[in-house]
Amino acid sequence: MITPDTIAAHVASVRDRIAHACDRVNRDPADVLLVAVTKTWPAEVVRAAWHAGLRDFGENYAQELVDKHAALADLDGLRWHFIGHLQRNKARNVAPLVHAVHSLDSARLATEFGARALAAGRTVDAYVQVNVSGEASKSGCDPRELGEVLTAIERCEALRLRGLMTVPPASENPEDAAPVFRALVALREAHGGAARLPSLSMGMTHDLDVAVACGATVVRVGSALFGAR
Ligand SMILES: *Cc1c(COP(=O)(O)O)cnc(C)c1O
Repeated sequence: MITPDTIAAHVASVRDRIAHACDRVNRDPADVLLVAVTKTWPAEVVRAAWHAGLRDFGENYAQELVDKHAALADLDGLRWHFIGHLQRNKARNVAPLVHAVHSLDSARLATEFGARALAAGRTVDAYVQVNVSGEASKSGCDPRELGEVLTAIERCEALRLRGLMTVPPASENPEDAAPVFRALVALREAHGGAARLPSLSMGMTHDLDVAVACGATVVRVGSALFGAR
C-alpha cells in the first residue's frame, strides 16, 4: 500500500506545479486549496494521506463517502468534499458528513441538500457544477439555469455559497481546457463576480496548471497523488 512518505513526495510535486502556475500569473499559492480525490482508494489510503498532512478529501460516490467517513472518524481536522454526481435521494446521506459540496446542479437538488444539512445542524460550503461545454455526457447545470441554482442556494440557511465548479471534456492537450475554464470565469463575472462567488473549483491531475493560471481557487487531484485508479 502507498505510504505516507510516498504521498508526501507526490503532494510536494503537486504543490510545486501549483506554485509554478501561480508564479506565471502573479497569484499566491496559498489561495489555491488542494483537495485530494480518493474515490476507489480504500480508507487506509486516506489515513496515510492524512498522516502525510492532507486534510481535504474529495469523494464521488455517496456510499463510498459514508463508509470512509465512518472508518476515519478518529482523524482530526479531516474535511470531506463531495464532488460527484448526486441524486436527490442521496442528499440525506451526504449532507450530514461533508464540509463542502461541489456538484449541486439544480435548484431542486440544492434545496434538498440545504434542508438535509439544516436538519443535521451543519453549514456546508456550496458550489454549483456547470456544464460549460454542453457535452451531453457531463453532469452540471446548463449555464442558462445557473442564476436559478444560485438563488436556491442563497435561500438555504445551511448552505454557504462559495462558487462554481466544472469538469472540462477529456482531451490529450491540457491547454484545450483553458477555454472551458475561462468560460467559467466569465459566468462568475456575469453572476455577481468574486463578491458573490469567491471560489472556482476547477483543475485535476491533467490540467491543474492551466486551471490555476485561469484563476482556480480549488484543484481536485487524484492520480497525481495516489497513482492511476
Ligand atoms: C476523479 C475526479 C477528479 C480527480 O481526477 P484525477 O485526474 O485523478 O486528478 C477530480 N474531479 C472530479 C469531479 C473527479 O470525478
